[in-house]
Amino acid sequence: MTVDYRNRSLWLDGFPGSLDPRPSLDGDSTVDVAIVGGGYTGLWTAYYLLQLDPTLRILVIEKEIVGFGASGRNGGWCIGEIAAGPDRHEDATDNAAARRFLHELFATVDEVGNVAQRESIDCHFAKGGTIRLARGPAHLARQRGEVDHQHQAFGLSDDDLRIVDAAEARRHIRGTDTVGGMFFAHSAALDPARLVRGLADSVERSGGTIVEQTAVTSIEPGRVVTDRGIVRAEIIVRALEGYTGSLAGHARTLAPLYSLMVATEPLPESVWNEIGLADRQTFADERHMVIYGQRTADGRIAFGGRGAPYGFASRIDASIEHRSRIHDRIFETLVDLLPVLEGTKITHRWGGVLGVPRDWFPSVGLNRATGLAWAGGYVGEGVAASNLAGRTLADLITGTESNRIDLPWVGHQSRRWEPEPIRWLEINGALRVMGAADRSESRSGRESRLAQWMWRLLR
Ligand SMILES: Cc1cc2nc3c(=O)[nH]c(=O)nc-3n(C[C@H](O)[C@H](O)[C@H](O)COP(=O)(O)OP(=O)(O)OC[C@H]3O[C@@H](n4cnc5c(N)ncnc54)[C@H](O)[C@@H]3O)c2cc1C
Repeated sequence: MTVDYRNRSLWLDGFPGSLDPRPSLDGDSTVDVAIVGGGYTGLWTAYYLLQLDPTLRILVIEKEIVGFGASGRNGGWCIGEIAAGPDRHEDATDNAAARRFLHELFATVDEVGNVAQRESIDCHFAKGGTIRLARGPAHLARQRGEVDHQHQAFGLSDDDLRIVDAAEARRHIRGTDTVGGMFFAHSAALDPARLVRGLADSVERSGGTIVEQTAVTSIEPGRVVTDRGIVRAEIIVRALEGYTGSLAGHARTLAPLYSLMVATEPLPESVWNEIGLADRQTFADERHMVIYGQRTADGRIAFGGRGAPYGFASRIDASIEHRSRIHDRIFETLVDLLPVLEGTKITHRWGGVLGVPRDWFPSVGLNRATGLAWAGGYVGEGVAASNLAGRTLADLITGTESNRIDLPWVGHQSRRWEPEPIRWLEINGALRVMGAADRSESRSGRESRLAQWMWRLLR
């Protein structure tokens, strides 16, 4: 049966090269490093390992095709931050460590752009920053608190992150109800599928091997069990993000949470003149139920949001990916922000799963005793973070001293998610609270206490 991989996202649909699968694993094999998952995490790890030691035998094992997961479907924000913030975990209460983490993330955005250029990966990288609109007093109050905190705790300056007034916000994007906003400089827009597919080619050019349509069922020290044979390796990297639960023993490691997206048809210049985004800034507002958008290189808007319910027992249900009430709501949200888009044709609807750890703090690590390594749990911010994770794993695996191997996320282990039905109640309850908090904030103009209380409970 031929699988239509193009219909998984705007980006895969528009990918200029072939999406025909590479050969599968052909029976048992032995390598130095086996990497499970052909998304950014797995491929960046392979890429940097081969930079450090081109003699390593590296095998990336992918169940479908490279970029089938979140890496081929995301919003294309390559942003130097992590969803939980660098100090939202006990290991990172040390501001110096959190500051170092943040600056590594900032530099990572340029690293992605530089590798893309060096490897001739034409992923439409444009570093225009991110504008988050404040669309009411509650948004503005939250942003002021955030900017003050980041300046004081991590020594950021206005060049990194700043509050902008309504006029400046509207110079970035002319969204409705704008009372101000927050501009963050360390962020680029890119085409995610072009990045992940190009990266895979670079890994192969550097001597790595990638097998596709090969499903891993379990990982144990020294051994990866797949439906096509057994791979023996001294080091095994788990890089499955939202799909981690499909591995034996990992049902409660990361919760898969859907984020859904729509893309408009290419917009005429007259419409762009009304909207703005001349530098391809990525954009959002300050609501709790995250939304995110980018102006694509071919003049569309790709726009997404959370809100799809979590599936009982971490079920990944592809049936909601193409048409759901949530897609309609996401488009309504976009038109509410940019009324000029009323009547614009939506050409693509899709979705994919994020990997959410119980404490929302991502993690990278290698257990030397077992040879088992992992990285992930980026929630919705893994495009840049996965590059830093891959470089860090490469350092850890090869024993290379670097200023990355002791960052706050290295060796971090989130507690596991609760068993069902508690997990289902928790996550879907939290989604409802976020929606209610947004409605209350836009009605009253005051920050919702309910949302603050929920965030404390969730972590
Ligand atoms: C809709 C959406 C929008 C997003 N927007 C942004 C954004 O704008 N900016 C940002 O920073 N982040 C964003 N993210 C998150 C970001 O895409 C991810 O954090 C990142 O892609 C994770 O990369 P990964 O390699 O860890 O996981 P994935 O890309 O999910 O890769 C995991 C791979 O493992 C494969 N696999 C699954 N099961 C098996 C198995 N049993 N055996 C072998 N292989 C298997 C999958 O097919 C997949 O290719 C978004 C995510 C989604 C879904």
